[in-house]
Amino acid sequence: MMGLEKIIPAWQDFEVFLQLLPRSSTAERMNPYTSFWTGVSEGDGPKEFHLVLLDNGRTKVLADTMGRQALNCIRCSACLNICPVYERTGGHAYNSVYPGPIGAILTPMLAGVENAGSLPYASSLCGACYDVCPVKINIPDVLVHLRGKVVRRKQDRWGWPDPENLAMKILARIFASPKLFARSQKLGRIGQKLAMNKGFIEHLPGPLAGWTMTRDVYPVAQQTFREWWEKTRS
Ligand code: SF4
Repeated sequence: MMGLEKIIPAWQDFEVFLQLLPRSSTAERMNPYTSFWTGVSEGDGPKEFHLVLLDNGRTKVLADTMGRQALNCIRCSACLNICPVYERTGGHAYNSVYPGPIGAILTPMLAGVENAGSLPYASSLCGACYDVCPVKINIPDVLVHLRGKVVRRKQDRWGWPDPENLAMKILARIFASPKLFARSQKLGRIGQKLAMNKGFIEHLPGPLAGWTMTRDVYPVAQQTFREWWEKTRS
């Protein structure tokens, strides 16, 4: 049984892959575990040979002009070995037979972003996977493309902008305006009193609670540098 993207045009092409895969994976010159099954021979071995070509979402991936490059993957694992996220999380965190950077793009495309919407975010976008990939799959670009799909899907489902997206837009406006920034700091100083305990914010309410699940949040300073500067130097 094999995925239908594994078909190559001719025996001669196989020579390239036979060298490319082990050298990219474990830096061996040849892989000692390669088997050739060429059908049945009269009086020797199995009597029948069945080859099942599996689609299982691959045609859908092929229809995605940006994502289809993931089908070029030869499963060498070079992107896994170099990935700082995979190094820390290990394979099980990807909840799929395809772990690491290639899994972060392939699984959401095969299973749908509605079933693996967090995987495109399992990356720092450092680009190391793209650098080492022997077949030059631009994994960071596909990750960003899939993140866009996740966000657009949320908007379509709820009929209004994704709350996180909306919050980022509001923050962008605030950060772009010194006046708005100063006012929001003053407001934050008043609002944070409700959540402060011994100088720290230990629990944020509602959808922000995730931020304080494993760490405290530093409160807004009682006096910012700009306020101090205005007070002492102007
Ligand atoms: S994406 Fe590239 S580096 Fe990663 S397993 Fe596939 S071929 Fe190897």
